[in-house]
Amino acid sequence: ADFLDRAESGFADSPGVIDEPSQPAAPVAPSTYRRLGERVRAWQAGLDALGVGEGERVAVVSHNSARLLELLFAVPMSGRVCVPVNFRLKAEEIEYVVRQSGASVLLVDPEVRDTVADVKVAHRFTLGEQTDTELMRFGVEPRPWADPDEDATATINYTSGTTVRPKGVQLTHRNIWVNGLTFGLHTRAWERDVYLHTLPMFHCNGWGMPFVMAGLGAKQVVLRKVDGAEILRRVDEHGVTLMCGAPAVWNAVLDAATGWAGPVPGRDRVRIVCAGAPPPSRMIQRVEEELGWEFTQIYGLTETSPLLTFNRARPEDDALRGEERARKLSRAGLPALGVKLRVAESGEVLARSNVVLDGYWEKPEETAAVLEDGWFHTGDGGTIDPEDGHLTISDRKKDVIITGGENVSSIEVEDTVFSHPGVAEVAVIGVPDPRWGETIKALVVRAEGSAVSEAEIIAYCKERLAGYKAPTTVEFREAIPRTATGKVQKFKLREPYWAGQDRRVN
Ligand code: ATP
Repeated sequence: ADFLDRAESGFADSPGVIDEPSQPAAPVAPSTYRRLGERVRAWQAGLDALGVGEGERVAVVSHNSARLLELLFAVPMSGRVCVPVNFRLKAEEIEYVVRQSGASVLLVDPEVRDTVADVKVAHRFTLGEQTDTELMRFGVEPRPWADPDEDATATINYTSGTTVRPKGVQLTHRNIWVNGLTFGLHTRAWERDVYLHTLPMFHCNGWGMPFVMAGLGAKQVVLRKVDGAEILRRVDEHGVTLMCGAPAVWNAVLDAATGWAGPVPGRDRVRIVCAGAPPPSRMIQRVEEELGWEFTQIYGLTETSPLLTFNRARPEDDALRGEERARKLSRAGLPALGVKLRVAESGEVLARSNVVLDGYWEKPEETAAVLEDGWFHTGDGGTIDPEDGHLTISDRKKDVIITGGENVSSIEVEDTVFSHPGVAEVAVIGVPDPRWGETIKALVVRAEGSAVSEAEIIAYCKERLAGYKAPTTVEFREAIPRTATGKVQKFKLREPYWAGQDRRVN
C-alpha cells in the first residue's frame, strides 16, 4: 500500500502504467497513477462484493498486462493473497497450483482461457471486458486499504520448477517492501525513469518492479511478449531508461540489434538489470559495447523476493575494457543493503535478510529444509572474494557435474563455449559415463551461418579450460528448452540420458 499511496499522492498525474496496445483484452486507458488507484479500488470493491474473505487466495494467470499489475496491488492491499501463475504452464500444472494454494478465484488472460477451462474453482473470470464490467465495481465509496500485519502473506509465487514440482513461496508485505526499496536504491531509480516490463510479472511479482516503479513515480510500459526487435522499438518509442531480464532477453536484443536500421536506441541512456541465470561474459561485453547500455547484474531467488546481490561497474572499473571488465561484471556481486551472506562448509550460499521467504505454502518439511536459524539455504554453490566481498555463483548444487571425482561448474564451461563466435546458445550437462561417473556434454545452437563442428568446440575449450572441464561430446540442437523467464531447463535436458539411473548430487 505504501508504494501506491505514494504514487497517488505524489505522482497522480504522471503517466503511470502504459498498457500493451495489441493485447487481446481491450487495453486499459488512459493511464495515470490516479487512474491506477481508482482501478485498484474497483478491484477491491469487486472482490468484497464477491465475498472473498481476508487471507483468501486469488490466482491470476496472465501475460504481462496492466490488469495483472493492478491485481498485484489490489489483492494484497485488500487483505487477500495474490497467487500469480505462470501462463506457460499446462492445464494440470495450473490445476495443481490452484488446488495447492486453495485459491477461490481464478482470473485468466483471454489467451489462456481454453487451457484452464476444466480447472475447478469457485469463481472464474476472463481478464478484460468481463472483469471490468462483471467483477470490478467503479464509483463505490472506497473503504480504507486493509491494514495487514507486515508479516502477513501478500503473495504466493510458485517457483519456476526448473528442478522440482513448483512450491508456493509465501512472501510477506515486508519482504516485498524491503525488496522494492533495495531494488530502487541499487538501480538508482527515480521519477524520470521509464521502465519497460521485459520480465514476466507473474515471476516473483516481476521482481517487485511494478511496486517500486509506482512508489517512485516512474512511467511503466507493459510488454506482453519478449521479442528483441519489439524491445528496441519500445525503447525508442517511449524513451525507456530501465529494464530487467534474464540473459536470454539480452541475447534476443543483441540479435535484433545486428539487423537494426540506424543507431541502436537508448545508447548511453538505458540501464539493464540482468538476473535469473548466470550471464556469459561475452554477452556482457556485447551489451556494453554494441548497445552502449549500462549493465548491472543481480542474483536472487523467488524465495528471497528476489534481490540478494548486485554488481555494476565501480569507479575503479572505469578504466577496464573488454574481457577483463566483463569478467568482473559477470560475478553475482555485493550483498544488497540489509542482506547478510555466508558460504557454508559445503560450499552452499546462505542468506539472512528481511527479503527471505516466510515459508513454502503448506509444506513445513520443505520450509524447515531451507531455513535454519534464520539462514536461508539457496541451493547454489558460491565463493566470496575476501578482497572485495563480491559473491561468485559457481553453480546450482544440482547442476554441478562430478566427473572422475572432480566438481565442474556447468556455468564455467557454458561461459567458455559461449565465448566461441559460432555459438548462439549453449547448455552444459552431466551425462552418465561408465568410467568417470559423469561426463560433460554441451548442447549447442549454432549462430546463424556458422558451421562450427563438435571437434572445433572441444578443442577450443581444451585451450581455455583444464582438460577435465572440457566437454567430451557436443550435440547440435535447433533450440534449448527454457522457462518463461528464460532459464534453461537442465533437468529436462538431462532426463533422456539418465532414464532409469540415479544421478549423484553433492
Ligand atoms: P526451482 O526452484 O523450481 O528450480 P528456480 O530456482 O528456477 O525454480 P528462481 O527462484 O527463479 O526459480 O531461480 C533462482 C535461481 O536462479 C538461483 O538459485 C540461481 O541458481 C539462479 N540465478 C539467479 N540469478 C543468478 C545470477 N545472477 N547468477 C547465477 N545464477 C543465478
